[in-house]
Amino acid sequence: WTLSLILRLFQLAISAKGFVVLPAATAKGAHRGGGGGMTAGVTAGGEAPAEACAPARDNPFNSDESISPMVKTVSPSKTLEVHALTQEMKARGEKVVSLCVGEPDFQPPDAVIEATATAAREGVTKYTGVTGTVGLRRAICADLARRKNLTYSQGDIVVANGAKQAVYQAVLAVVRPGDEVIVPAPYWPSYPEMVRLAGGVPVILETNVEEEFLLTAEKLRGALTDKTRMLIFCNPSNPTGAVHSKERCEELAAVLSEEGGKGAGCWVLADEIYERITYDTPHVAFASLPGMFERTMTVNGFSKSHAMTGYRLGYLAAPPIITKAVTTIQGQITSCASSISQAAGLAALAVTDGEMQLSFDVMRKKRDFVLKRLSEMPNLVTAVPEGAFYVFPDVSAHFGKSAPDGTTIGGATDLCLYLLRAHSVALVTGDGFGYPKGIRISYAASMEDIDEALGEFDKCISSLE
Ligand code: PMP
Repeated sequence: WTLSLILRLFQLAISAKGFVVLPAATAKGAHRGGGGGMTAGVTAGGEAPAEACAPARDNPFNSDESISPMVKTVSPSKTLEVHALTQEMKARGEKVVSLCVGEPDFQPPDAVIEATATAAREGVTKYTGVTGTVGLRRAICADLARRKNLTYSQGDIVVANGAKQAVYQAVLAVVRPGDEVIVPAPYWPSYPEMVRLAGGVPVILETNVEEEFLLTAEKLRGALTDKTRMLIFCNPSNPTGAVHSKERCEELAAVLSEEGGKGAGCWVLADEIYERITYDTPHVAFASLPGMFERTMTVNGFSKSHAMTGYRLGYLAAPPIITKAVTTIQGQITSCASSISQAAGLAALAVTDGEMQLSFDVMRKKRDFVLKRLSEMPNLVTAVPEGAFYVFPDVSAHFGKSAPDGTTIGGATDLCLYLLRAHSVALVTGDGFGYPKGIRISYAASMEDIDEALGEFDKCISSLE
């Protein structure tokens, strides 16, 4: 019996490539949680898994071969290292100030909380239709018409379990194996991975701090090919906070509609989840631009504007050919968004602009404070973010320097790890956003935490030589 087990393990150890990969369980004392090589999905600001899985002992399924090769096309989060160290330090009882999170630090409006409780109490606890309740979809249409000058009908809306699901389903609906999808960088880390999951090829279009992370018409034109299927356009941007103005968006739209140009078959996935949080540059919906309505899929949600991240509520507004396809996909994956969250979403859309503005005014104050502090620090290049709640300074002038303890700061990840180890402050490395020269600071935090974290950050970079 023992001999056959050893033989079986040895068979499993020979990978398709012809070389030997020992299953973790055979290495004495080795512990590997769950599917070898897979990492728990910890995103920027996400929560760590509560605890590692039990060691798999003699389970012959505990092998890379058990996992679909498709998973290997997807990169795990680049923020894991910093996140893991943060968790370790916290577990040791050390205080860590984190400006990593991608969610507002305030509570949802009172009306939302009340609607949540009422829905639960009054039996709004059943499945809804796949695309969401009629009431919520009508309210979304009214909101898009009033604030964004967009005319959708309820049939053009698919309510999803968060904007993230809406983005992924939109990608799945149109991207075929080998199709190119243009992703301007710095980007939200899920975009390239979602494209890969659909079998597409992410084409990363770089922008930099000097051009304020804004995409130009020339760059877009240069990236279009006969294989381009989609442009993913995040405006305002996570991680940079950049907002493309109406004029800039019109220039990009004009490139896509150029006579004889390569943009003819290019869909636009406009991720506008941060559109309510803008400062001096007003946001314009990409679908409202001349000629863009027919080819634009608008994604939005309640996580950022209404601090409803845990409600998992977002939506897609798109031409019927897309909503039909997405409805088919969603119907087989999750059925529908939570009925209780949808009731809360309806209440969220009834909150007045005035009340909403109060929290955005606080965000602006925090942004200005962060910008002022960063401007006083040595050798940082920072573009003024016009939206969202992130600042994304270019810290590359400090690469190659040494820290007082001898650590060499080779790049943004090294800087974030050192900052955490030596100054107990957690920021997110730009590596995961496709801009290895930057770091992301989220100011959706208390003023005390922002103040303390930036004070330490200043000390940290001032100490590098
Ligand atoms: N798009 C962007 C650009 C985001 O930053 C996020 C959240 N981090 C999402 C989509 C997903 O939001 P949701 O919570 O609605 O899934």
